Amino acid sequence: MIEKGRRDFCIECRKEVEYLLQKKDIVKSIRDKAYTFSITVAICAECGGEMSIPGLIDKNVQEIDGQYRAAEGLVLHEDIERLMKIYKIGKAPLSLALGFGEVTIPRYLEGQVPSKEYSDIVKAALASPVYMKQKLMENREKLTDAAYKKAIAAADSIESLFSVSDKMLGVIAYVFEKLEEVTPLMLQKLLYFIQGIYLALYGKPIFAEDCRAWIHGPVYPEVYDLFRDFKYNPIDDARFALLEGNEDALTDDEKKVIDLVVNTFGMYGGKTMEKITHNEDPWMEARKGYGDSIPSGEFLPKGRIMKYYIAVNQKYGIDTEIGLREYIHDMLSKAS
Ligand SMILES: [Zn+2]
Repeated sequence: MIEKGRRDFCIECRKEVEYLLQKKDIVKSIRDKAYTFSITVAICAECGGEMSIPGLIDKNVQEIDGQYRAAEGLVLHEDIERLMKIYKIGKAPLSLALGFGEVTIPRYLEGQVPSKEYSDIVKAALASPVYMKQKLMENREKLTDAAYKKAIAAADSIESLFSVSDKMLGVIAYVFEKLEEVTPLMLQKLLYFIQGIYLALYGKPIFAEDCRAWIHGPVYPEVYDLFRDFKYNPIDDARFALLEGNEDALTDDEKKVIDLVVNTFGMYGGKTMEKITHNEDPWMEARKGYGDSIPSGEFLPKGRIMKYYIAVNQKYGIDTEIGLREYIHDMLSKAS
């Protein structure tokens, strides 16, 4: 890494000079073990000597700390903050809930390096709501009733997150990475289009869940349950911190289809997408015999969705954004 245009005083040259930032490997021994760390140094553009720049030392202390923790498998500051956010719990109560002393977590947050044993407990709590719940129950008498109940409720809602398939979580995580604001209604429609287009292009489903024909279009009930609290508002969920990295498990084909849908259907609101699904065969067939405002829980079979989108693909070429936009345009003029 080299950055240009920065200036400071060089002791060797005795004047203000331009300097470059470069990466440099250093070997440092911590508790009798040698580690190689990559740090940033400032090089004088005139004499080539190393310069001391304010702020750089702090940055390197942080870099070394992060690299040391990664090498030893120790938790980071952010991991602890993520745990606090997900379980809606303060630093002292979290410390007690995990079976540590009251000041342990606050000290870690101030920069003290955690032990391997305690790191593993924090990591296990982050990875599994079941484990976190077990810890909370073990240490219940050390917590206030309010803190305990809040954290248990959060653990229950995180467990429901894991009731959805990994692939579904991956798709949802990727959609949220790509779109700024997504309401529950929008998400339901996007998932349906993603499934339909993936079925048509690859002949198999992207996720295992089946959707049902509710009044406002196709709905994945498990996903509905996850986000029902957001009603008509954009989903802003502390639990997403747990989904970070889930989208990495998607294949290139899967990401391609999600990109296609997000860049086309994703430009519309939930109600507009609802109009489109209401004019598609799979939904109309599943709703046969039901009045407009009569609830139903009929499945939209994947085979039927696939058949419909294969026909759409033949007509519009839905493996491109242009084809999809044309399809959307035709469906919306049909609906109005
Ligand atoms: Zn110099």
